[in-house]
Amino acid sequence: MAAQWFTAVVRHTEQIAPDVRSFFLEVPDMERFDFTPGQFITFDLPVGEKRLQRWRSYSLASCPGNNNMFELCIVRARPGLGSRYLFEEVTVGSELKFKGPEGSFVLPPELDRDIVMICTGTGIAPFRSMISDIRHSGRPHRRIHLIFGTRTETDILYRHELEALQSAMPGFTFDIALSRAPDWPGHRGYVHQIYLDTYAHARPDVLFYLCGWSAMVDEAAANLTEKLGYDKGQVRTELFGV
Ligand SMILES: Cc1cc2nc3c(=O)[nH]c(=O)nc-3n(C[C@H](O)[C@H](O)[C@H](O)COP(=O)(O)OP(=O)(O)OC[C@H]3O[C@@H](n4cnc5c(N)ncnc54)[C@H](O)[C@@H]3O)c2cc1C
Repeated sequence: MAAQWFTAVVRHTEQIAPDVRSFFLEVPDMERFDFTPGQFITFDLPVGEKRLQRWRSYSLASCPGNNNMFELCIVRARPGLGSRYLFEEVTVGSELKFKGPEGSFVLPPELDRDIVMICTGTGIAPFRSMISDIRHSGRPHRRIHLIFGTRTETDILYRHELEALQSAMPGFTFDIALSRAPDWPGHRGYVHQIYLDTYAHARPDVLFYLCGWSAMVDEAAANLTEKLGYDKGQVRTELFGV
């Protein structure tokens, strides 16, 4: 079946880190834009002749509300045809053609296992959606542990929001690993050492969700299953690209 395309209008943008911008979009033709946290939309951007040259997917970073709005969190890739267009050509009022929501990188209906979310950079987007949805809906859950990796302190996304959630949401904790911040008092280096230490003994009551570019996601998936002995069914992945 051919995909159905919609138009979204950019209502607001906000630079949230040196290379990362939040885009707040509205779908005027819909009363309500519904999706499951963890899903993504795909833009058809005017950056190529062929369909696959033009399509770029982005995870929904907001949680579903009773409205026709959604939020994305996008890094300016270099050279990066699609993100260059979004950062340099798109402004408030711009219209963007999109399809979706799509994707099966979603939480199970019952949160009866601990959830460990591992991400780098804008890979945090689907997790922000999932965590805010749990918080707003009041769904019962067990431990939720977010492990976020980026380069320097200014690249930390949603820092104040995560700190506020950690105080307000029982069972939610987060760790930040910075790879290029020698003076950072927290974890220095990549995300890997954190889950290797914390989840060293494989157990059946935990699910791992990994999101970001393949360098991190592939290594983490291999570490969890091959080094630590978790079952493949306990590890779910969303790959942003190679
Ligand atoms: C399901 C899905 C969800 C996605 N969600 C998001 C999202 O929420 N936010 C977001 O910013 N991107 C997301 N992406 C990636 C996005 O679709 C584009 O690939 C990205 O914006 C780069 O496109 P571009 O046209 O700017 O770069 P291109 O010209 O297509 O290529 C740039 C190259 O650099 C790589 N690359 C780009 N950025 C990085 C980076 N930071 N680290 C390592 N390699 C990188 C790309 O994989 C590619 O090889 C998602 C991708 C998928 C498949």
